[in-house]
Parts: sequence; structure tokens; C-alpha cells
Amino acid sequence: MIAASRRTFLAGGSAAILAGAAPALARGKTEADVAIIGAGLAGLAAARACEAAGLRVVVLEGEKRIGGRLHTLRHLPGAPEAGGIQIGAGYTRLRKIADEVGVALASGGGAGAGIADAPGNLYVVNSVTATPQEWPTSPGNRLAESERHVEPAALLRHYARAFTRLAGPDAWRAVMPESDISVLAALRQAGASQEALRLIAANFNGNSLAGMSQIGLARMFAIFASQPGPVATVTGGSQRLPEAMAGSLRGDVRLGQTVRALREEPDGVTLYLAKGMLRAAHAICTIPLAALRHIPMECAMPPALARMIAELPYTRASFAYLLASEPFWEADGLPHTLWTDDPLIGRVFVLGSEPPMLKLWTTGAGADLLDRLAPQDAERMIVDRLAAMRPSSRGKLRVLHLHSWQKAPGARGIYHHIGTGMVGDLAAAISHQGARLHFAGEHFGRTASGMEAAVESGEAAAQSLLARI
Ligand SMILES: Cc1cc2nc3c(=O)[nH]c(=O)nc-3n(C[C@H](O)[C@H](O)[C@H](O)COP(=O)(O)OP(=O)(O)OC[C@H]3O[C@@H](n4cnc5c(N)ncnc54)[C@H](O)[C@@H]3O)c2cc1C
Repeated sequence: MIAASRRTFLAGGSAAILAGAAPALARGKTEADVAIIGAGLAGLAAARACEAAGLRVVVLEGEKRIGGRLHTLRHLPGAPEAGGIQIGAGYTRLRKIADEVGVALASGGGAGAGIADAPGNLYVVNSVTATPQEWPTSPGNRLAESERHVEPAALLRHYARAFTRLAGPDAWRAVMPESDISVLAALRQAGASQEALRLIAANFNGNSLAGMSQIGLARMFAIFASQPGPVATVTGGSQRLPEAMAGSLRGDVRLGQTVRALREEPDGVTLYLAKGMLRAAHAICTIPLAALRHIPMECAMPPALARMIAELPYTRASFAYLLASEPFWEADGLPHTLWTDDPLIGRVFVLGSEPPMLKLWTTGAGADLLDRLAPQDAERMIVDRLAAMRPSSRGKLRVLHLHSWQKAPGARGIYHHIGTGMVGDLAAAISHQGARLHFAGEHFGRTASGMEAAVESGEAAAQSLLARI
């Protein structure tokens, strides 16, 4: 049950005041039936659905690029991805859209995608390098006797078998508050040793074990289990999909148009831009909540939604893209992927041999550390540490690019996760249906995650809007 909506001022004040903008009387004519904030998958899916119903749509995008968290780094050798890559077998909405806009999908997308815990990691733990075969007896292995045989990358799944299980991808919304405990507490209950907790935290897909609800993990497991089958990637790079979606629209997609404040009124929504404003009968806001919380906003919303805008955590992750002078991993006979407990290094994935590129991926406190270093210091430290961990890389690596999602003002993290004690409020928040201002984005997914959640939420926001006109 959602508490009654009330007028809420977020980010410290009224949108009109903070924008230094004109009073309501001088607000100008309505330019569009629907203004969509954000040209990522959610915004573009919403735009397509609104146009299909005959509405006039304008999409406003703060960046000078379409795609949001689908971002292909075309200036780097091999055009690696900075954002989403893997398309699950169950991404039916996204696959349908790809088909409609003529974007081909290729099957596959494992370790090269930079997100899979591919079997066969080379471990560097407590400064000792070990293959999976060497791990159980490695001097770097300080796990308790009962868990010594489990590889560091498999520890979380090993203990998560004891976590609360969900009956399906949507079941997370109805869990009891007593199950909404942290991953840390759930791991302790399951018997994980202190060293196991340290290693799980080292490359955790979140910011800390204490900060994520075990239901967040249970939800991911339920989603994966519900869609068995091979994953796919977008042929030619992920960003091609949102670009093709934008190309399929009749209305404008205006790049470099950051919405600086917004206000919902009885008969429309006013969006305040760097220069001027835009008025529309409805707006769909797809800004990630970690970014939205910095934007003054005046609208009616339930307290649960206001809390999620203010508090929903987003995983911090930073990457380094490295070019090798030759694919040294083919010569040293060791597993390709490096998995370390060094926060600055995290994990290093081989992206491919032609060109020989690697991607370093570090999360949480490790991402903060990488972000704080001066780029030249970070690059030198990364190359030196990798040479010590994997001697065959010595003298062969160069950092081409550092990427931090939390530094991007329109993202401020890679994706949301359910914070400890937030299941109830997130479930209530995503049930909210605005009168004029509607919300979407991957954080509003009900049954899906990642890209599919973005599309699901965009289409749902469009349907809710269409039901009101
Ligand atoms: C590193 C990484 C790996 C991932 N891996 C996967 C994966 O393998 N599979 C998967 O399914 N998903 C993955 N994801 C998640 C997936 O990419 C996202 O869920 C999805 O792209 C989000 O789409 P969205 O439209 O909700 O948000 P976004 O793509 O973030 O779109 C929001 C848009 O709003 C714009 N914006 C923000 N503020 C303003 C403003 N004030 N004014 C105007 N515009 C603004 C932003 O610039 C952005 O373009 C990954 C994401 C990252 C970052």
C-alpha cells in the first residue's frame, strides 16, 4: 500500500526558485505531448511507445551522445564497451525492438564482455599468485578449512545457497521485512569466515557487503534462473541499439540538453534547461536516481519514492583499458582472467587478441581509490602492479583510457542495487504512477534487470501515461 502522495520538494527547494526561472504564469506554450528526459534504453523505449500511440514526443539528452549506459568506446582499439553488453536469453522486449529497428544480435559474450566470472581465473590473493589447481594449497589461501577448496570467485555463490530464495523474478516485491538483511549478515549466518568475507567483498558487484540487501542478490539469481539460455551482444557495439531506436523516432532527440530542474503542474510539466525551458503535457523522467537526487524537483510523490530518489544505492565501478604490445597471455600458459584482492586492480579481463586489449574492472572502495588518483599515477601503478602479478606482462602494457561511471553527472554509478532495508520502499516506489510526471529507468524494472528492465520500465511508463489521456 502506497502512502498518499504529497507535494515534495527534492534536492533542497522548489524547481522554479532554484532554476531562477520564470513564475508559472509566464511559462510559455506546451511544446510536446510528452517530453522524455534521457536518451538511454528506457527513454527511447518510452518514446517509441508514445509515438506508436500518435503522441508528439521530444527527447532531451544531457550528453552529446545517444545511449546512456550503453556506451561503445569507438576511439579505442577494438571499440570496447564501457557500459552494458550482455543480452539475456529472456530479454524478449529488447530483442523485439532490436529486430524492429534492424539491429543484429550476435550470440556469445563471455569474459571478453568484461563482466563474467569466467572459469579459470589466475588468482593473486595475499600477494601470492595461484592457478585454480594451486588454490586449495596456495600459501595465499587463508580461508577456513571447510571453505579452502572454494575458489575466491565462487565463494559468494557457495554461501548464497543458504540465502532466502525467491519463487520468481517478481517475488522480491513481496518479501517480509525480516528477510531484508544485508549480504554481510546473510553470509555470516551461512558461516562464511572473516577471510571469505574479505575475498567476497574484494570483487563484489556492489559497494559493500553491508550496504546491499540479500534480497538484491536473491532477485538477480531468480532472474538468471528464469531465463536460461545463451546470452547475446549487439553486433557492432551496444550503442548501435539506442542509436537505431533514436533514428526510428519521428520527434526530435535533442542532445546536450541537460534538464536542470523540473516541476509538475496540474496541466503539464515544465523542464528547466541551461537556456530556457520546455513545457509538455506529460514528462517521463529516466534519469538514474543517483543523478536525479541532485536535481531540484517539485512534484507529487509518495514518501517511498522520495526516499528512493534520495537513497537508492548505485554500484560504483571504474575501469582501465590497456593495450598490450603482444598477447602475452597466450604465451605464459596461465588463465587469461586475473582475479585479485588488490583494490586498485580488482579483476582484469582479456578483451581479445586482435587487437590485444584488456579491461581492468574495480568496484566500490577500489573504484573510489582509482578515481582519486591522478591519471598518470594510476596508470603507472596499474602497469607496475600487473607486471609483479603476471611477469609475462612486464614492459608490454600501456593504459589507454580510464573510465569512471560515478564521475559522470548523468549516471553516478553503473546500476542500482537494493540497499539493506529498502525492499519495501523500492517496491512501493516503482508502483507509483504520476499524474503528469512519470518515472522510468532500469531502477524501475519489476521482473527484469539491466537493459531489459530499462525497456520494461520505459514501456510501462508510456502505458501508464496513455491510460491518463
Ligand atoms: C558497466 C556496466 C555494465 C553493464 N552490463 C550490463 C549487461 O551486461 N547486461 C545488461 O542487461 N545490463 C547491463 N548494464 C545495465 C544497462 O546498461 C542499463 O540498465 C541500461 O542501459 C540503463 O538504461 P536507462 O535508460 O535506464 O538509463 P541510462 O542509459 O543511464 O539513460 C539515462 C539517460 O539520461 C541522461 N540524463 C541524465 N541526467 C540528465 C539530465 N539532467 N538531463 C538530460 N538527460 C539526462 C543520461 O545521460 C542517460 O543518457 C550495465 C551497465 C554498466 C554501466
